[in-house]
Amino acid sequence: MSAARRRGKYLWLELGDEAGAPESGGEALVVHLGMSGQLLVQPGDAPDEKHLRVRMMFADGRSELRFVDQRTFGGLHLADLVEVDGIALPKPVAHIAPDPLEQVFDLDAVADRLRARRTGIKRALLDQSLVSGVGNIYADEALWRAKLHWARPTGTLTRPKIRELFGAVTDVMQQALHAGGTSFDALYVNVNGESGYFDRSLAVYGQAGHPCPRCGASVRRDPFMNRSSYTCPVCQPKPRNAHL
Ligand SMILES: [Zn+2]
Repeated sequence: MSAARRRGKYLWLELGDEAGAPESGGEALVVHLGMSGQLLVQPGDAPDEKHLRVRMMFADGRSELRFVDQRTFGGLHLADLVEVDGIALPKPVAHIAPDPLEQVFDLDAVADRLRARRTGIKRALLDQSLVSGVGNIYADEALWRAKLHWARPTGTLTRPKIRELFGAVTDVMQQALHAGGTSFDALYVNVNGESGYFDRSLAVYGQAGHPCPRCGASVRRDPFMNRSSYTCPVCQPKPRNAHL
């Protein structure tokens, strides 16, 4: 293995010698955590986890990377690397757009494509062919920070407003990363087995009926694509031309 990389919710290990894998033409081990998968770094002599599925030894001979999955929705598979815009990506990830924390993320280009769509802003944020890594929770939090309703038509957003929104998206993602993620489930841990605590910082997501931290109005929940959207009715009023 020569590198561990990610894009959006995709994670892969580039395979190669210690001198580094070629930019393309190589292979990667793509990791799907599914609903309950965990990648853990453990000392080689640690007892096996009850649901240990795959064990990989590090070259130092002392520690292991273990894939543990209580259910079996996750898995590992080999994929060829292909070059997309100068970056080597595993084939199953090739159609996924860069996420806002990547250096190659081009905000101006994304803003143009976003404004050309006839859709609501939250649907666009969750569309992985446009931008990846923004899930339901982080979309709601970023829209609240930028004071935008989830159904706001993308075509009505100005460039500065889109810039402000993506500033909020980036802030939310970085703060969530710093907190180790958002754990609604004890199975969601980092490689050291630790849970994240960003859920304590959520302003609106999952907070229906609680006061908006900015204005005190009661947070509202709307059904959205078989899930929910949480907004402050005062900070994020529903637009007249809403794209529901
Ligand atoms: Zn508010």
